[in-house]
Amino acid sequence: MSRKDSSVEKTRVIGIFAHVDAGKTTTSEGILYHTGRIHKMGDIDDGNTQLDFMVQERERGITIMSAATTCDWHGHHINLIDTPGHIDFSAEVIRSIRVIDGAVILLCGVGGVEPQTETVWMHADSENLARIIFVNKLDRNGADFNRVMAEVQARLTPRAVPLQLPIGREDNFTGVVDLLTRQALIWRDGEEVPAIEPVPADMSVEVEQARARLLDAICETDDILLERHLEGAEPDMDALIAALRTATVEKRIVPVLCGSARNQIGLQPLLDAIVSYLPSPFDRAPVKADVPGNDEPVLIRSDAPEAPFCAAAFKIVTDPFVGHLTWVRVFAGGCSTGERVLNPRMRTQVNIQRIYRMHGGQRDLVDSMKVGDVVALVGVKSVLTGDTLCSPAHPVTLETFKFPEPVIMVALTPNSEEEREKLHGAVAHLCKEDPTLITRYDDETGEETLAGMGELHLEIAVDRLRTEFGIVANVSRPQVPCRETIRATAESTGLFKKQTGGHGHFAKIILRVEPLKRGSGVEFEDAPKSGAKGRRNKQKLPLDFVRAAEAGVRQTLEKGVLAGYQLTDIRVTLLDGAFHEVDSSDKDFEIAGSMAVRSAIGAARPVLLEPVMQLDVSIGQEFLGVVTADVGRRRGNIEAMNVRGAMRTLSGEVPLSEVRGYATDLRSMTQGRCAFTLAFRRYDFVPDNIAENIIKDRRAQGKIPIPRDTVTV
Ligand code: GDP
Repeated sequence: MSRKDSSVEKTRVIGIFAHVDAGKTTTSEGILYHTGRIHKMGDIDDGNTQLDFMVQERERGITIMSAATTCDWHGHHINLIDTPGHIDFSAEVIRSIRVIDGAVILLCGVGGVEPQTETVWMHADSENLARIIFVNKLDRNGADFNRVMAEVQARLTPRAVPLQLPIGREDNFTGVVDLLTRQALIWRDGEEVPAIEPVPADMSVEVEQARARLLDAICETDDILLERHLEGAEPDMDALIAALRTATVEKRIVPVLCGSARNQIGLQPLLDAIVSYLPSPFDRAPVKADVPGNDEPVLIRSDAPEAPFCAAAFKIVTDPFVGHLTWVRVFAGGCSTGERVLNPRMRTQVNIQRIYRMHGGQRDLVDSMKVGDVVALVGVKSVLTGDTLCSPAHPVTLETFKFPEPVIMVALTPNSEEEREKLHGAVAHLCKEDPTLITRYDDETGEETLAGMGELHLEIAVDRLRTEFGIVANVSRPQVPCRETIRATAESTGLFKKQTGGHGHFAKIILRVEPLKRGSGVEFEDAPKSGAKGRRNKQKLPLDFVRAAEAGVRQTLEKGVLAGYQLTDIRVTLLDGAFHEVDSSDKDFEIAGSMAVRSAIGAARPVLLEPVMQLDVSIGQEFLGVVTADVGRRRGNIEAMNVRGAMRTLSGEVPLSEVRGYATDLRSMTQGRCAFTLAFRRYDFVPDNIAENIIKDRRAQGKIPIPRDTVTV
């Protein structure tokens, strides 16, 4: 794709991020309305008649549920990506931030910078994302643009500069002054298009001061403009706008706009700013990708001529009309219907059958996709969220998504036997849509567990089971899933022998277990790697029995030996075995394998592992001492402290089991001046005294699996 492709230059891929209730839905609807994509503003607070309600639900459903919507503004395509309503879900925030090129951060004119805003800001910083800020709800009682602006500068960034000033306050908020053009835009009763008028006389001093600050900020980012500015000449408007665009794309300025989405004030200028200042797909930083066989990642440049096709699947949804939809964002090249693309994770090619572009209420079938497109594919069911699709001749895996491991789980039990299957299917469906939800099903206990990123994440999943699948399951208290591992190497024999009159049972397995480094999982080897210790005569045990023993070993490792948690980071090597021509069966070897590995692990100093989280906290300076001490009490430690405006950011780690209720505790410690994120970092040993209690509790709950040799065959 060459730089000359003006349709890509005129594309914007953006997301709107807001604290819950700041007005994201209303603003998105306003954007779709003004760009002609929907024909009625659904007023969220009304909707008395059934018809109204349904129309709204449909229209709102589109803005809320579909992963992306395309709309047009002044010759530009805007791909608006849906962002999570609850920004507690850091995985979702990261996922949407990675597929967009720019963001609108929406603030409430009364609430200002909320803790969640700071969280999103931190994520956007780490992804180096260009942003503009929209201060909404200026019509509300208590709204104060200047106060919010001061909070933005102190708590988010000193680079925020207003492009507008509000005209009137609260009930009398009627429009904005555009500082660059010195025009007043006033939305008179019921008029959708603003009247353009001179700056109200009583604002002229304030406007000139703010305008001077804006010009200073822009000129400081551009040497030629700065020179002219210092000479006392005002640079021309086009040069100022171009410099402001570059500065916004390069994250040196964050333009701030304002309005009232509900009263439809300020939305057209917001759209203007999105197309004028946020980056096009060509302007965004190249994305990193892995190439098979290369140690170093490569950079995928979207503007490289003839760049091979490369896209990321970022969301899977079930559409009531079209069925299974896989949403992709194209980062480089293009692809047409009928072409085959590679899914490097599966090492398979998929056929691109149908490509849809969503336009508000409509879906259009298109025959190709290219850089900057955000489209939905039908017929690529094997593709999962986070997968890369690329040209088969140029295999690459985008480094865009690394989902944190789910760290908290609940057990789900159906209310009746009939519901068991239904629950199983519904949970599997949720997990497919959301890669940060993981389910496990225990054949023996019939228990279905669902693990996710946080308590709220799981609550919402459980709620979806009820609303979308009509399943009301019994939900256990959330638990932090530990793991088990070993600290030493040990060998053991499993002998399963029974003579019960008729057909007998016989199987013997000798194996060794040894610890592997964290994150290795479980390895099973059929014979020792080095010949020296190799006692096993390869011919001695038929392969079927080896596989059966392996199955027994793996089942036992799944269930754990100390407290019923999955064992991990272990290598199991089958050293030797014996069988009986007549009596031995696969099942006997499963049991012998299970017995051998249980006793080997018992001798290999087994230990519990717990998830340890990366903790990033942002707090007012005066709370440093109390917050650090609290982290210490939670068995965590602080590794770094940074200054960001009036705020201090602390980063470190803390065991997940110790941060229950952290949001509430941190808020009360800091009088609400706080924001934090927790993300999975690693598993680490649980201290012995704590492990003892966990094991005691788990045993009391009957969570320790029954050894296999006591099970009747
Ligand atoms: P979201 O949770 O961020 O999607 O927020 P919504 O768009 O659902 O809005 C939350 C509430 O704020 C609703 O009651 C809206 O009517 C109201 N709201 C949204 N924008 C404005 C605004 O500009 N002014 C006022 N006064 N209320 C607004």
